[in-house]
Parts: sequence; structure tokens; C-alpha cells
Amino acid sequence: MNRKKEIVFATNNLHKLEEIRQIIGNKFKILSLKDINCNEDIPETASTLEGNAEIKARYVKEYYGYDCFADDTGLEVYELGGEPGVMSARYAGDNHDSQANMNLLLQKMCDKENRKARFRTVIALIIGDELTLMDGIVEGEITHEHIGDSGFGYDPIFRPIESELTFAQMSSDEKNKISHRGRATAKLINKLDKIK
Ligand code: IMP
Repeated sequence: MNRKKEIVFATNNLHKLEEIRQIIGNKFKILSLKDINCNEDIPETASTLEGNAEIKARYVKEYYGYDCFADDTGLEVYELGGEPGVMSARYAGDNHDSQANMNLLLQKMCDKENRKARFRTVIALIIGDELTLMDGIVEGEITHEHIGDSGFGYDPIFRPIESELTFAQMSSDEKNKISHRGRATAKLINKLDKIK
């Protein structure tokens, strides 16, 4: 009998875990950091999304021996040279306060005409000794105020070009179809599907 291959998703975010398990769970047994007794805070010290995703995946491979994938996401505003980018979670400080992050961004954008921005998710996958980096991008713009109550993070101030709604006005299904994470995850699944 074929045993399912085990692969670690370097996260303890239950929502992200559940989502990926539903899609690829019949082929892979997806383990969380908690499942492998990894209770450390893996230091995300790189200056790029690619760097941080790779650090997390390599950490699990090196210290725990598992094949692994890890993700990192940032909102990149063109007029601000790509800010908040890799600092998205802690733009306004270390307490990861979404309201404060959005307020700071709106303040920095108050006199800007070019409001173009994009969300980018990078996934680093390590199978054996092979590293693969994949990304998913959604282009859009920063609104002038908060619109909508759903979602999380910067959702109320980001409107993708595919829609007249902000992410915070969409259902999670609508958002997942076009989102950065949805697009990066589709590439990951495609890659995992090809593994025998
Ligand atoms: P993470 O790498 O998935 O933890 O994302 C880093 C930060 O980017 C989060 O703390 C949020 O502030 C922001 N972020 C990531 N994905 C989204 C999204 O889908 N909508 C809004 N904000 C997001």
C-alpha cells in the first residue's frame, strides 16, 4: 500500500493549513510546525519575501529533516518604492496592528496620485536538496479610505484591478480566485502534483 508522503508547511496558521489540506491532502500528509514539535519562532531576518520564505523552509529541512514549504507575503506600493513589502505585518510597529498599519499607509499616500500597488506571495519549496521559489501577484490600487469589513490585514484599503470591490468587500471564495496567495498556491499544487 502507498503511504502518503509527508511534507511540512512552515506555519501555525490554521486557516492556511486547512486550505491547503483540502486541496492536496489526498496525496500529501501536510504537517504544521506544531505537528513536528517545532515551537521556536523561526527568525525572519531577510530583506526580501524570497529570503524569508527560504529561511523558514531551510530551517525545517536542516533541523527537522522534513521536506517543506514556507510562504511570505507583502503589499508593495509603487509610489513608496515597494513599501511596506517585507515589513507589511509590522509596518507601524512590532505589535502587528492592522489598523495602525493601514492608517500609516493611508497617511503616507495622502498626497499621492499614483496609487498603484500589488500583493505578492512567495512560496519556497524544498524537496530533497532542491529549492524552488514560486510567486503569486495581484495588481491593484490603494483606496483613499477603509471600505468593507471582511478579510484581514490591508484588505479594506486594497482594490484589485479585476474588481470594483476591495478585498474586504469580497467573500473569501471571490478573493481566493484572484488573490496573490491563491495564485502562488496554484503553482505550488501544480508542482506537488508532478512529484511521484
Ligand atoms: P504573511 O506573510 O502571510 O504572514 O503576511 C504578512 C502580512 O501581509 C500580514 O500580516 C498582513 O498584514 C499582510 N497580508 C498578507 N496577506 C494579506 C491579504 O490577503 N490581505 C491583506 N493583507 C495581507
